[in-house]
Amino acid sequence: MVLELIEERIFKGKTNMKLILTLFLISLSGIGMAQERDQPNLIVIFCDDLGYGDLGCYGSKKNRTPNVDQLARTGIRFTDFYSSSPVCTPSRSSLMTGCYARRVGMHEDYTGHWVLIPRSRRGLNPEELTVAEALQSVGYATACIGKWHLGDQPEHLPTEHGFDFYFGIPYSNDMQSKGRGDPPLPLVKQSSVVEAPVDQSTLTKRYTETAIEFITANQSKPFFVYLPHTFPHLPLHASPDFLGKSANGRYGDSVEEIDWSTGQILASLDRLGIADNTLVIFTSDNGSNGRNGGSNQPFSGNKGSTMEGGMRVPMIAKWPGRIKPGTICGELATTMDILPTFCELAGAKLSDRKIDGFDISGLLFGHEGAESAYESLYYYRRRQLQAIRMGDWKYHLPLKAIHPNWTTHKTEGAARPAKLVNLKSDPRELKDVSAANPQVLAKMQALGREAIAKLGNDANEGVEQRSALTLDSSAPMVLNK
Ligand code: MG
Repeated sequence: MVLELIEERIFKGKTNMKLILTLFLISLSGIGMAQERDQPNLIVIFCDDLGYGDLGCYGSKKNRTPNVDQLARTGIRFTDFYSSSPVCTPSRSSLMTGCYARRVGMHEDYTGHWVLIPRSRRGLNPEELTVAEALQSVGYATACIGKWHLGDQPEHLPTEHGFDFYFGIPYSNDMQSKGRGDPPLPLVKQSSVVEAPVDQSTLTKRYTETAIEFITANQSKPFFVYLPHTFPHLPLHASPDFLGKSANGRYGDSVEEIDWSTGQILASLDRLGIADNTLVIFTSDNGSNGRNGGSNQPFSGNKGSTMEGGMRVPMIAKWPGRIKPGTICGELATTMDILPTFCELAGAKLSDRKIDGFDISGLLFGHEGAESAYESLYYYRRRQLQAIRMGDWKYHLPLKAIHPNWTTHKTEGAARPAKLVNLKSDPRELKDVSAANPQVLAKMQALGREAIAKLGNDANEGVEQRSALTLDSSAPMVLNK
């Protein structure tokens, strides 16, 4: 259509010239298409509360995960990969924006909630560039299939943040408190509730089928599939094919179904002949809660804690021909790196707003000399800066009262003294070595002051913090009768 219009306007009646121009324009558009196909398809499989020790390739002896293990054998596995937070909402805001949750106002709030609850008025600020919006702007078809948890109001849903397609639950699968006024757990398509309460047992299966449908329908153009699974977050469910089949109770059942799902998606890429042009990333939003069979081994601490077990997560990536099979990477990287890395690979622009993540394509592709770009990593929990990592060192800041961790559920914990540990020699963070390393300690304290000045601490805001979008009112997501 565009070609015809140009021809019509420039060459009325000049047949030969028209033919030459048409051929020229077709050849140009052909080049354009070839360039578009250089953009890889991008898939992020994002588990909810899957711990560091929950996969065979990370040492699990309980859960059978042959498909994810195969992903690691044919791709790269990171040993020092982090979510930016030990709980869902802040962690997901980081993946979407490439920022610490505090930077974008999506850290845990002041109302006693660790994460967004149904009818939260708060959600991602539309002024933030999400990874989906960045990819959409350069021609990607984009889908979010699974648990969102960055706001359930119409203004906050995935379709408002760069996703062409959304299918999933808008927040955690345990958020069904009648006393709080939560509606029956909704399953949402685009922005409408299509089932409530959702049948959780078939969610993983339906997410998988929907993802494969989307991939199949968009195989001829670049696509981004973000697949944030509902499990193994509690309560645990699995379909009849997996229920009661694992050696690790319902936890293992749900993990093994996610493993199956991963295998199905990889098989669909092979079947469509697009595996060689697709980067698949498999990771988790935070550590396991350590109950019900979940494992963060070999680390201490669970979901909700800034010990390694709360925030260090599995991360595996595969891209045939680009990522060397069987690679293990020990460099520090985080979920905040996904946005800048994808922008680099897709030829998308970052916004002018400051972000915290880095392009890790050099690490993925094993470029010589590639190393982590992080001078330090901040561990924020609730409103507190609780710890900092620099190289192999981790400094636990002294706290007057540590905010609750997942296992105690207390509103205020006891005071905690400062502690410097070496993660390489002491992965369980037991031994304070600050007395023997005064220079490291001084550097860590300086990094702590710097982090607090930039991103704040407790109720004090930092100079670089931005705001979430808070609406004036909100309503529960219910079935349209
Ligand atoms: Mg989670």
